[in-house]
Amino acid sequence: MNTRILPVTSESLAWAKELIAAGEVVAFHTETVYGLGADARNDRAVKKIFELKGRPADNPLIAHVHTGYDISTLVETPAWTARLREKFLPGPLTMVYPSKGVVSPYVSCGLPTLSIRVPSSPTAQAFLRAVGCPVAAPSANRSKHVSPVTAQHVYDDFAGDIPLILDGGASQGGIESTVLDCTGSVPLILRAGLVTREMIAAEVGACENYTLHAGERPKSPGMAYRHYAPSCRTAFFGADEQKAAIRCYREETGRGGVPMLLCEHAVAAKHSDCRLLDLGATPEEMAANLYAHLRTGERAATLLIGIDPRARGGVMEGVRNRLLRAFGRNAEEK
Ligand code: AMP
Ligand code: MG
Repeated sequence: MNTRILPVTSESLAWAKELIAAGEVVAFHTETVYGLGADARNDRAVKKIFELKGRPADNPLIAHVHTGYDISTLVETPAWTARLREKFLPGPLTMVYPSKGVVSPYVSCGLPTLSIRVPSSPTAQAFLRAVGCPVAAPSANRSKHVSPVTAQHVYDDFAGDIPLILDGGASQGGIESTVLDCTGSVPLILRAGLVTREMIAAEVGACENYTLHAGERPKSPGMAYRHYAPSCRTAFFGADEQKAAIRCYREETGRGGVPMLLCEHAVAAKHSDCRLLDLGATPEEMAANLYAHLRTGERAATLLIGIDPRARGGVMEGVRNRLLRAFGRNAEEK
């Protein structure tokens, strides 16, 4: 199959609509990362996403809809959740509700819930409006690989396997949406992202981080998997272990390897003699740069050396969750 990367035009949207109606999979830009979408009502189309990604069958997908879509046809919406939709949607917040069982059971992997996201990306909105149906979509990367933030990243993982990638440029947010369980009386963060616990609590009074207890079935099965792994060798050091990180860098150079250092700007500024992947200074910059740097690192380096940034809380929760998991330190499985 020939994979085409096309900008969003009336022609490419008409083709995307035909493909989705025919049960095919189409990749599309969002403001967080690129998604791999199919008609959420079509069992075979949804199963195709799992096959293409090599995604475990118990890791549910998010249903994406346009801003005019009436989500009460798909899920129960507790009254207190209205304020969060008004404040944060469209945007990088996925809300998990009790499902009405209208979409394919493969979307939620048999869970009684359905997660819904309304992306703010104009490309995503145009695509969702054109197809009309809810679109089940995970991130458009091979399972466990680094999430894609450009059309080229999607192409690198799926060239020859999908017909169309709708190019909307770089995904500015850089990390996946916040996943928020809204099935109880207090919202629970299942996955941290750019809409933070503090921001949600400020609207509805409370918001908690979900913690997985031993022996319990996780509320969000995706939490249990290693993720975002670059394909090269990696090493990871704490914020106080800069010296050890540099030693590791020199050792790799001494062995004839090509190390690269992935770290926040303040640390990068002190090591301008090293090959650097500078994450930036603010949490938002670090979110936006993380996946692109991991993909550059795996192509260019024999050893990717990460140094934990110093900042904590807010957007750093999401950034560090991805960073630690990329380096094989599962932040969620403490
Ligand atoms: P991805 O788009 O690849 O980041 O995957 C979607 C994420 O949303 C995974 O971490 C899933 O576990 C989570 N998710 C999707 N649907 C649900 C649901 N119904 N309940 C809990 N978590 C969900
Ligand atoms: Mg993913």
